[in-house]
Amino acid sequence: MESKQHDLVVIGGGPGGYVAAIRAAQLGLDVACVELEDRLGGTCLRVGCIPSKALLESSERYHSAAHEGKVHGFSAEVKLDLGVMMARKDKIVAELTNGIGMLFKKNKVARYLGRAEITAVGKVTVHGDEPVELSAKNILIATGSVPASLPGVEADGEYIGDSTTGLSFSEVPERLVVIGAGYIGMELGSVWQRLGSKVTMLEYLDRILPGTDSEIAREAQRVFKKQGFDFKLGARVTAAKTVGKGKDKHCVVEADGLEPIECDRVLVVVGRKPYTEGLGLENVGIKLNDWGFIEVDEKYSTGVEGIYAIGDVIGGMMLAHKASDEGIACVENLAGGHGHITYDAIPAVVFTDPEIAAVGKTEDDLKEAGVEYKKGVFMFRASGRAKALNRIDGRVKVLADAETDKLLGVQILGPHAGDLIGECALAMEFGGTAEDIARTCHTHPTLSECVMEAALNVDGKAIHS
Ligand code: NAD
Repeated sequence: MESKQHDLVVIGGGPGGYVAAIRAAQLGLDVACVELEDRLGGTCLRVGCIPSKALLESSERYHSAAHEGKVHGFSAEVKLDLGVMMARKDKIVAELTNGIGMLFKKNKVARYLGRAEITAVGKVTVHGDEPVELSAKNILIATGSVPASLPGVEADGEYIGDSTTGLSFSEVPERLVVIGAGYIGMELGSVWQRLGSKVTMLEYLDRILPGTDSEIAREAQRVFKKQGFDFKLGARVTAAKTVGKGKDKHCVVEADGLEPIECDRVLVVVGRKPYTEGLGLENVGIKLNDWGFIEVDEKYSTGVEGIYAIGDVIGGMMLAHKASDEGIACVENLAGGHGHITYDAIPAVVFTDPEIAAVGKTEDDLKEAGVEYKKGVFMFRASGRAKALNRIDGRVKVLADAETDKLLGVQILGPHAGDLIGECALAMEFGGTAEDIARTCHTHPTLSECVMEAALNVDGKAIHS
């Protein structure tokens, strides 16, 4: 078997692994990245964030052109060409994944194609066309996560599938059932609802979007219901299967307390689980915790000499930018620096319309922890820019410490919430107060003024409400 020597072997070419590999190379290390798929970029680029955002953008434009013209004073006949919409998405994915290959070349990161198996401390075998043995002082596991399945649900990847299936239907399903009203369910449900599907969301909990602020989630649900979503909460799905043949083939979904639901397609999006299959963790004595995650210390060390892990595979928020930041912090520490992440200042966004964005604590978190806080709210309907956009649903909610005014969290439901949360994350990273945001000059007329007004309202000083 051919053998190669590197300073660092990164396992996984997703936003955790490829970013870590590039930063480590910038810091002067000789780096290799092993990826199983022939396209770099991981779940995020191939079958997650990027293709879903491409379809969210296209479907939003389609829906707006078809239904919003009247408000603005025009009418047009709008026809969907799903093939072109899908091809555009595929082109974006191809360009970005190829782009990572170019960044690897530029930064002299050696790329290996195949499944990586850790065979001993400092040793990784790449099971590709030709097996290769890599030796390295340090190994970084960044293998991410895969969709969780549901017992009783007979997925076939076509009629009943996961998030990947939901990114490539060849026609718009008339009746779509989405199991799980989390991040992915709400985003993919939005794509197909806008393109014409009747979407039923089956959610086990008594609320949508677990983990988000419950007041914001309730308001979001009201808005989504107006858009046409049918929510069945407290509905634990126990079975789903396909019935019939040929043109009559369809799906039947069973959930506690509901009559069986007939539909054309089913998406199962009930969370993701860490991906460690075939990694050879047992060869070096790395144990998984009860949820299947690899446990690490504050420097991302697994406790086994020279073996580190970051991203979805170690748990926490399963977000691409969290994985990237962990990758950077980990390799900066390896290269003698001081990598660090402020976990309380990691923003999260659901790319629905309106978007939902958050950073720091939710109001539920603060109540549960018994923290004394002040709350400032500003409604988008009071913003001139939101009115001009015809996007007046939602609010900004700023939460600050009752005594010190230090920012504890910001929750936004509204237009471009995903962009607006940026300044809030920055303010929190700097240990800022609500007054810091309130006294920062914000451009008029922009949506960012809503963030400023909510911050002003922490002390009841908003001008426009
Ligand atoms: P999730 O945990 O957000 O939501 C899954 C939902 O499925 C939950 O509400 C859960 O209660 C429900 N569920 C579980 N079992 C069920 C059953 N038997 N019947 C009915 N409902 C059931 O998970 P997700 O939406 O699959 O997303 C996975 C991860 O990916 C999340 O951690 C998320 O943060 C991340 N993600 C982020 C983004 C983003 O940042 N925009 C987008 C997509 C995914």
